[in-house]
Amino acid sequence: MAERLSSEQLIELEHHHGAHNYHPLPVVLERGEGVYVWDVEGKKYFDFLSAYSAVNQGHCHPRIVDAMVDQARRLTLTSRAFYNDSLGVFEKYVTEFFGYDKVLPMNTGAEAVETAIKLTRKWAYLVKGIAENQAKIIVCDGNFHGRTTTIIGFSDDPSAYANYGPFTPGFIRIPYNDIPALEEALKDPNVAGFLVEPIQGEAGVYVPAEGYLKKAFDACKASNVLFIADEVQTGIARTGKLLAVNHEDIKPDLIILGKALGGGVFPVSAVLANNEIMLTIKPGEHGSTFGGNPIAARVAIAALKVIQDENLIERAETLGNIFREEIRKIDNPMIELVRGKGLLNAVIIKPTNGKEAWDVCLKMAENGLIAKPTHGHIIRFAPPLVITERQLLEAVEIIKKSILEMS
Ligand code: PMP
Repeated sequence: MAERLSSEQLIELEHHHGAHNYHPLPVVLERGEGVYVWDVEGKKYFDFLSAYSAVNQGHCHPRIVDAMVDQARRLTLTSRAFYNDSLGVFEKYVTEFFGYDKVLPMNTGAEAVETAIKLTRKWAYLVKGIAENQAKIIVCDGNFHGRTTTIIGFSDDPSAYANYGPFTPGFIRIPYNDIPALEEALKDPNVAGFLVEPIQGEAGVYVPAEGYLKKAFDACKASNVLFIADEVQTGIARTGKLLAVNHEDIKPDLIILGKALGGGVFPVSAVLANNEIMLTIKPGEHGSTFGGNPIAARVAIAALKVIQDENLIERAETLGNIFREEIRKIDNPMIELVRGKGLLNAVIIKPTNGKEAWDVCLKMAENGLIAKPTHGHIIRFAPPLVITERQLLEAVEIIKKSILEMS
């Protein structure tokens, strides 16, 4: 039998042989089911990160895993040099599901964002009539859209962009949640698109004012500018609607999806748009070897069916309200603010007695719940949406106990 390594040994292996581009919580997981994960020593945890909202349907959902395994036994990859019997079925399903003419499948969130940027520029030149190489895209302070060189080039977070330049030109950054700033930026006739997260997840679950997205959408329409919603983290039921933009009843010109589109088992991302935009890209002008592969296609259909069949939208909405209400009841100076929508929430931690968000996360892990701090003082709480009310209340007790044990 193969030697079983301890958590400590496995952490040491990663430290020694892997790049140091992450700083994980010292928990080594080996198994997952629904809302739970287990470490190599057999300790069970509530997963309150859900792989940054990729595991909305719960760990190792049997229907999604079955879809993957069945397809993997038959045909895994053809590339797009040939047709296959899964892609078209997925394309019909996903476009009908979200109500767009066309889909362009990729693999990771960042690739889908890049695809949306390229589509916006093509549309700018071929449809809007902007002069060659002059198109601009408006983005927001505090944005997170992925890790490619173009994307980090318009980030305002030094840990994302420092020492990676030079960067791609053509982006204008304005404050998030600021309509006058957007209106001002839209006066530039070379603006082709506005790329925005409906809630800024990585920034710390920053929820804009009610009505912001609708006003921003209307302002874009008035200027013939594409509204591009990055729903990689907020989409697919996470915030209590299928898409977070549905809270304000708007239909973006481009929707960017990733993470939970693959049900946490396979990387699947996509851009959705109507023909006027999507058909500006012609054969050979964009692509990906793995994008839209048969496994991804089958997995994504299963992942969306689970969202529908298990009523995960309603569940996220209801349980999100309960979560925020219960956390707000915890009477402790460390809890400065609770915010979020659906089951995408954050608690702002006020450092107390030399203890910070990281210490709270370590304590919660000790007590059986894993979550991760962001920007030093914010803890994101985003469990798989299959969590039950009883499990949620149990998890709230762990969070409460951990906070109380800090002082
Ligand atoms: N957009 C948003 C809004 C995200 O939150 C993320 C990932 N956190 C990405 C894009 C990038 O996705 P990926 O890591 O799959 O490239």
